[in-house]
Amino acid sequence: MSSLLLRRVRVVPLDGSATAEPADVLIEGGVITQAGAVAGPAGVRVVEGDGRWLIPGLWDAHVHLGQWALASRRLDLSRTSSPEEVLALVTGATRPGRPVIGTGQRAGSWARQVTVAELDAVTGGLPVVLINADFHHAWLNTAALDALGLARRDVVVAEAEWFAAYPRVASLERPAGSADYQRVLRKAAAQGIVGLVDFEFDTPWTDWARRWHEGCDSLRIRWSPYGGQLDSVRMAGLRTGAALPGAGADGGTDGRLTVGSLKIISDGSLGTRTAWCHQPYADTGGFGAPNQTADELAAIIAEGHRDGLSVAAHAIGDEALETVLAAYAATGAHGSIEHAQLTTSRALAELARLGLVASVQPAHLLDDRETMDRVWADRAERCFTLRSMLDRQVGVALGSDAPVAPLDPWLAIASAVHRGQPGEAPWHPEQAITTAEAIAASVDGRRIAVGQPGDVALLDADPLAADPARLASMRVALTAVAGRVVHDAGAG
Ligand SMILES: [Zn+2]
Repeated sequence: MSSLLLRRVRVVPLDGSATAEPADVLIEGGVITQAGAVAGPAGVRVVEGDGRWLIPGLWDAHVHLGQWALASRRLDLSRTSSPEEVLALVTGATRPGRPVIGTGQRAGSWARQVTVAELDAVTGGLPVVLINADFHHAWLNTAALDALGLARRDVVVAEAEWFAAYPRVASLERPAGSADYQRVLRKAAAQGIVGLVDFEFDTPWTDWARRWHEGCDSLRIRWSPYGGQLDSVRMAGLRTGAALPGAGADGGTDGRLTVGSLKIISDGSLGTRTAWCHQPYADTGGFGAPNQTADELAAIIAEGHRDGLSVAAHAIGDEALETVLAAYAATGAHGSIEHAQLTTSRALAELARLGLVASVQPAHLLDDRETMDRVWADRAERCFTLRSMLDRQVGVALGSDAPVAPLDPWLAIASAVHRGQPGEAPWHPEQAITTAEAIAASVDGRRIAVGQPGDVALLDADPLAADPARLASMRVALTAVAGRVVHDAGAG
């Protein structure tokens, strides 16, 4: 924990009040101890703010960090818009003897289903795995189906079968190492991020304890277990908020590496048409599907709650959302709903009543708006209902769901405010929130005030006055976590 004096910074008001005159902010021992005119104590690092804008450090409330680190190395298919474009990129990336792992294509927006045969035709005997942007299915060639021990077929591998097979993809590529993690953590810090919730699939906490000591220790991390890890979590006595063991006496991490919530995936996704809905999808006629029965869902939530874990339940469709909310109500569990992409008035009232946080990824709106207009046209006004959530006193936390969307807090904030790309017509603007509200939903409840953690981001522009393009690409001069500088643009 460190000390830092920020001179002449303007604290950005997130409560609707006017921006104050520049003032000094002193962080000592990792905590904000003075704000106003500060006579700096000797020996403290001083940063000249020159009237720049200060906000609490940003959080990403939903990240799959290992996947994000891997995605930064995989074949990037995110800019393709058809199967033919994907096949062309795969053909160009094929090297003798090297499997191809690609990611980022959005099959949900394509006009047709793909076949394994057409992928085989351009890849031959080399395993090729193309992971859809929503992570709920993958397009594999026959060599990859064989390599992962999956039955041969002519369609994509989806949902439970895909989730079970995914860990075996690791046998086809080099794993993400500490250097990969450090690279993505550095990039996050440069965007003002001070902490993130890591929902990486089924990784033991010991991985994080080890990684922390390999230099991946710049930000606050909340590691989140999945259901399959409950026994080992219980045996280690881990509870939400506790420091992870194996990282020193108190964790040796100043409370920066902690246990998050039990993650449960209750339904699928829009892109795969598996998000579970009250009404059928316009194109497939299906309703999506739950991943558990209501009883199974209530049982696992109750188990986590008994073990002292808050719960983070993925629910994208409205039927899934209401089913999950009933399970929270029945068990008394706390925590969050991840995504809450399609809401109902009843669900919003219940979210508020139960004090659950809606953990929403606004940048998905940019990718999903066409699909929502096409297959959820009858319910589009109930998607990404951020305005309704805040108006009904539901706590909101913004995130990226990286690698589904880039780990970029400003893209999330700008998407929540403008409901479209810069220059694009806003999608259902009646559900827009203000920039101050979007930032407030991105700081884990923190404020710039005495007694608060010394987690801050110093911005080159006033975010409340920034136009859409500038907001989406906000430049961050300096980021500090518990007073320790983790990004300094001036330092080059
Ligand atoms: Zn996710």
